[in-house]
Amino acid sequence: MGKQINVALIGNPNTGKTSVFNALTGLNQKVGNYPGITVEKKEGICKLPRGVKAHILDLPGTYSLNASSLDENVVIELLLNKNDKDFPDIAVVVSDVENLKRNLLLFTQIKDLEIPTILVINMADRMDYKGISLDIDYLEERLNTKIALVSTRKKEGIEKLKELIGAYKDISVKPCLNASEIDKAYFDNLRQAFPNQLLYKLWLVITQDVNFGKTSRKEIEDVSNFKTKSKADLKRLQQKETIKRYQFINNVLKVGQTIDLNNAKDLRIKLDRIVTHKIWGYLIFGIILLTIFQAIYDWSSVPMDFIDSAFASLSEWTKRQLPVGSFTNLLAEGIIPGLGGIVIFIPQIAFLFLFISVLEESGYMSRVVFLMDRIMRRFGLSGKSVVPLISGTACAIPAIMATRNIESWKERLITILVTPFTTCSARLPVYLIIIALVIPEGRIFGLGYQALTLMLLYLIGFGIAVFSAYLLNKILKIKSRTFFVVEMPNYKLPLFKNVALTVVEKTKSFVFGAGKIILAISIILWFLASFGPGENFNNAERIIKTEFVDQNLPQDDIQQKIASHKLEHSFIGIIGRTIEPAIRPLGYDWKIGIAIVSSFAAREVFVGTLATIYSVGSDEEETIKNRMAGEVNPILGGPLFNFASGISLLLFYAFAMQCMSTLAIVKRETNSWKWPILQLVIMSSFAYIVALMAFQILK
Ligand code: GDP
Ligand code: MG
Repeated sequence: MGKQINVALIGNPNTGKTSVFNALTGLNQKVGNYPGITVEKKEGICKLPRGVKAHILDLPGTYSLNASSLDENVVIELLLNKNDKDFPDIAVVVSDVENLKRNLLLFTQIKDLEIPTILVINMADRMDYKGISLDIDYLEERLNTKIALVSTRKKEGIEKLKELIGAYKDISVKPCLNASEIDKAYFDNLRQAFPNQLLYKLWLVITQDVNFGKTSRKEIEDVSNFKTKSKADLKRLQQKETIKRYQFINNVLKVGQTIDLNNAKDLRIKLDRIVTHKIWGYLIFGIILLTIFQAIYDWSSVPMDFIDSAFASLSEWTKRQLPVGSFTNLLAEGIIPGLGGIVIFIPQIAFLFLFISVLEESGYMSRVVFLMDRIMRRFGLSGKSVVPLISGTACAIPAIMATRNIESWKERLITILVTPFTTCSARLPVYLIIIALVIPEGRIFGLGYQALTLMLLYLIGFGIAVFSAYLLNKILKIKSRTFFVVEMPNYKLPLFKNVALTVVEKTKSFVFGAGKIILAISIILWFLASFGPGENFNNAERIIKTEFVDQNLPQDDIQQKIASHKLEHSFIGIIGRTIEPAIRPLGYDWKIGIAIVSSFAAREVFVGTLATIYSVGSDEEETIKNRMAGEVNPILGGPLFNFASGISLLLFYAFAMQCMSTLAIVKRETNSWKWPILQLVIMSSFAYIVALMAFQILK
């Protein structure tokens, strides 16, 4: 058993790194995060010829080693730190045959770190169409490297790439650019101060201010006694470096690459003109979105219903099979429904990512981003925030996961923070029952008041999301690069393998990331609702039976009354009554309080909980509704659910962060508890204040 070779895949965004990664590793891959930050880390194992194994790391896309974003920092920190366990024995720079010039900039920088570097020229299948031909021998000679001409689409060149990786020891580490050319005097000084260090590496440490090993910029400046350069000077020298590199690359490509321009790009240009058109563009995008969301609802409803009833039966079955007791109840009423609450999201997540990855793979998403960028930018969002914001109407969980392709951390964070304001499908049952109770049935211009109220709630949600994005953009002091979309990738047929792997990976990351937290909270809520202190809880059965002994109620009703009595005196019931003084000004009583607390597991639980508390036997809407309509406000008299308290509840549910699964996914995506907690506190306080004002004004 020889040692594993460490391979780092590096390249500009969209050059096909992940496709090469998938081709090399197949299903032998693992996705995680870099410690402490939210950049995704993909690694896998590849078997090379002659029994050698390679550990492959798919690094985030980067344009150069002059870092300006979190993603790019990951690349630099790895390449500068020999002690990192992932430090590459060999760097594989993946480039796109259509953008060789820009891609080679990064290549020359990495080569100059004296790490053995090979060049993959990907998308070779596009060469004919684009009229590009390459003199590979010449390029290899000038760039001092080995080149693999690859098409992951046609599965060509992968074996050659594996050979080259296996033979990494033969690759020259001669740099492309002599660093001293950037500023002779300055670099001579550096050389004297650090005779044993690689000049270009020192230069990167100075300009990037990243730590590698133990040397930091400050130490370099302290040791060297020459005059420190100002920030502006450093910037100027960096620009000079880039110019020098491009001069070199131009010279190499002048001989190594020929492009015959007679080929037709017409179709693509025509298509682009339509899909980014000021009117048609939005219209086409709108239709595509509508289709997608309709499909997500339609296609998910069957598997979701199935999962729902499967878990319900499993629960029942467990109850029947196991001896009566707390453990059985924990299993049947806590753990199994908790697991069900995780699994039920899988169809929506899988379908949403199926669509998103097809749109992305085909190249259409770049056009949408370009189209929406103009508008979204004003609110501190990115063109790419559109998909999460709209997906939020189905469910905030896949929506928040869909923010991953927003490169700028600030824009991504803002999108994550505001997405839960969009009205998700779980709010719908709550809205529907309250609207049915408090909004009259009349019509205006043929439109029902009830339908209008519902629509208004959706609009308010979306409006607040955009407005808070605007505020957050002003408040948050996060430096992160705003991406400027310079060019659009070509339209392509999506690669099935890429799409399938995305879907599998996102689903897995939800189940194992957020799933754990959802399960934990479900168990806690179960515990709070199933146990209570004192006589009233423990003797609920006797109390109810004595109370109703002469009324001759059917058995079902008695059972319901017992359940309701227990819930009232359980821990959650006590919490409900404890918070009553706080929610009374909003027009709610302690029963609604319980429903609010328990619906923290998932908003739709609200209706079910009220049904239990109001001891309604069947869950037919009519019965719950009538029962709720009959409730009397204990303080003010009159119906508990009137216009004022109804509107107040609607607004509360529109704004409150009433969903632990969303908090769990936000924790996972931001890698910290800070953001979900802030979200919980701020959204819920806001909801409280708005609901309070609504009730006080309307009552
Ligand atoms: P990354 O951003 O560098 O990880 O790039 P991806 O692997 O996500 O690929 C970007 C796009 O290029 C996707 O739409 C791929 O389907 C496409 N792509 C990848 N490899 C090839 C190839 O060999 N030929 C063609 N025509 N397209 C490719
Ligand atoms: Mg990628």
